[in-house]
Amino acid sequence: MTKKQFQSESKRLLDLMINSIYTNKEIFLRELISNASDAIDKSYYKSLIDSDITFNKDDFYIRISINEDERTLTISDTGIGMSEEELDLNLGTIAKSGSFEFKENNQAKDGVDIIGQFGVGFYSAFMVAEKVTVISKAFGTDEAYKWESTGADGYTISPCEKDSVGTDIILKIKESEDEEYDEFLDLYNIKSLVKKYSDFIKYPIKMMVKKKKLKEGTENEYEEYFEDEVLNSMVPIWRKNKSELKEEDYENFYKEKHFGFEKPLKYTHVSVEGITSYNAILYIPARAPFDFYTKEFEKGLELYSNGVLIMKKCGDLLPDYFGFVQGLVDSADLSLNISRETLQQDRQLQFIAKRIKDKIKSELLSMLKEEREKYETFFENFGRTLKFGLYSEWGANKETLEDLIMFYSSHEKKLVTLDEYLSRMKEDQKYIYYAAGESVDKVSKLPQTELIKDKGYEILYFIDEIDEFVIKVLLNYKDKEFKNVSSSDLDLEESTETTEEKKENKDLFSFIKDSLDGKVKEVRASKRLKTHPVCLATEGEVSIEMEKVLRAMPNNNNLVQAEKILEINTDHHIFEKLQKAYKDDKEKLKKLSKVLFNQALLIEGLSIEDPVQYANDVYELLE
Ligand code: ADP
Repeated sequence: MTKKQFQSESKRLLDLMINSIYTNKEIFLRELISNASDAIDKSYYKSLIDSDITFNKDDFYIRISINEDERTLTISDTGIGMSEEELDLNLGTIAKSGSFEFKENNQAKDGVDIIGQFGVGFYSAFMVAEKVTVISKAFGTDEAYKWESTGADGYTISPCEKDSVGTDIILKIKESEDEEYDEFLDLYNIKSLVKKYSDFIKYPIKMMVKKKKLKEGTENEYEEYFEDEVLNSMVPIWRKNKSELKEEDYENFYKEKHFGFEKPLKYTHVSVEGITSYNAILYIPARAPFDFYTKEFEKGLELYSNGVLIMKKCGDLLPDYFGFVQGLVDSADLSLNISRETLQQDRQLQFIAKRIKDKIKSELLSMLKEEREKYETFFENFGRTLKFGLYSEWGANKETLEDLIMFYSSHEKKLVTLDEYLSRMKEDQKYIYYAAGESVDKVSKLPQTELIKDKGYEILYFIDEIDEFVIKVLLNYKDKEFKNVSSSDLDLEESTETTEEKKENKDLFSFIKDSLDGKVKEVRASKRLKTHPVCLATEGEVSIEMEKVLRAMPNNNNLVQAEKILEINTDHHIFEKLQKAYKDDKEKLKKLSKVLFNQALLIEGLSIEDPVQYANDVYELLE
């Protein structure tokens, strides 16, 4: 029999498992039971939709058996089974390679993190077993196959005998040497692990249990006998009464389902009775999964029809902007035969999806109101999706989302909602002001913010690339318009220039403009600067930040550019120098103009066209 090698990534994971010092090794049982339950889900579903298959509900179960002498723990199921190819494919390659790669690059030196955070399915068996044997017979076939491996050196697959369809996973438990493994051969311990991790599995988890009874005809002599015991309560958690459930139950269920690796931020359990009845458990994860902002991420809730799983990821139940929500929906009113294609037209499903959307929104709003810190954590992780939601579909989701988004602001450099901003607006304040840039720190130092801050107005800091684009779609919030602090028509303060000065400056400004070779649309006296000599303002729809974002996009053709205006602070002593140079030394004025313009660019975080020339100009002026 030839030995096959694990696909390289699987091998790495396997090594991790074998040498694991993870203290929570017991979770392997949860993983194997959960796989068994999934496999039964598949065959149960098949029997339900295929009228040719007759079945008995009692046919679906999981059995755990222990053989202390041989040191084996066996988990058997009557599920869908695996063919020879499936054994090879499913157990020789790791499906969650993406997450594995991610974790390995990031931390998890000894594997502790990856095991605890993701759960790693089948391979976790190698944390406690020196050899794993899988005997399986696939649904609809007559042959059974045996997959066997003692670890990283590979595995074998060979034909074998098995009476019924399903899978047996036989673990040869490691010898207790440095570490204690005997507990995994201890009946009471296994029973309590099942209770702890797998109580809600909806198929019976059976085990032969040794019992004692009074010997007939005696008064104090006992005899031993074996009896099948069902270890789990089997009622799926979402069917249970909320009052019977503890926070811990929801958290365990969350982990069992691999919805996320940390305690969820929030969960909610809904039971709706009506024309369409359903139960749902929804979770808001504490952290965005590593692939959340990639196109590989697949949103969706588990969908059950009367307790039978029909789809692992039903995307139609969640709008994209709430794609982070995990959980499940069970409705007796849904047809079992629903397919991905007919799903979208299904009236009941649409109804449920709408209700779920509203529920998520109200949960988020209540978190915002009552658990501010949590909400900020949530927003740091998922705020971008909400903003994307506002931006997409031409603002159609404005009503749903506008109260949920937050921005940093000049107020305390903390996240604020638009509503909070509004509540702090000054009486004479017309607009919601914002400034865009790379970071809170950088934005707060922008010269353009000076005057507005001076007036005591709050400024929103847009530090996410998408922010300004969102605002362009949003247009206003509760009738208040947004205004970029760099926009040319700030309309805040009357100019201090007298008509005479204006006339005088006009020629100077037009000279400066000409020196800048068409790089600015206009040069003018600033009304917004207080301590800085110059800044850039923009006219029209495209701001400087937007130009930066658009430039960074692939296939950009540099066509979209902000219309820049160079503003000069006429109260600044530098301005006197400009006036003087205009009279005495036009060449010097040209240099000064270029240097000032380049400095304005640098302040905005834009690059300058000819840094060497710029440096030379500065040296020269310094002399
Ligand atoms: P995951 O369950 O997350 O896909 P696993 O490594 O636990 O990852 O399992 C890999 C695959 O092996 C499963 O997706 C499933 O197709 C198959 N498998 C595992 N256990 C069983 C089982 N008891 N019966 C049938 N198929 C199984």
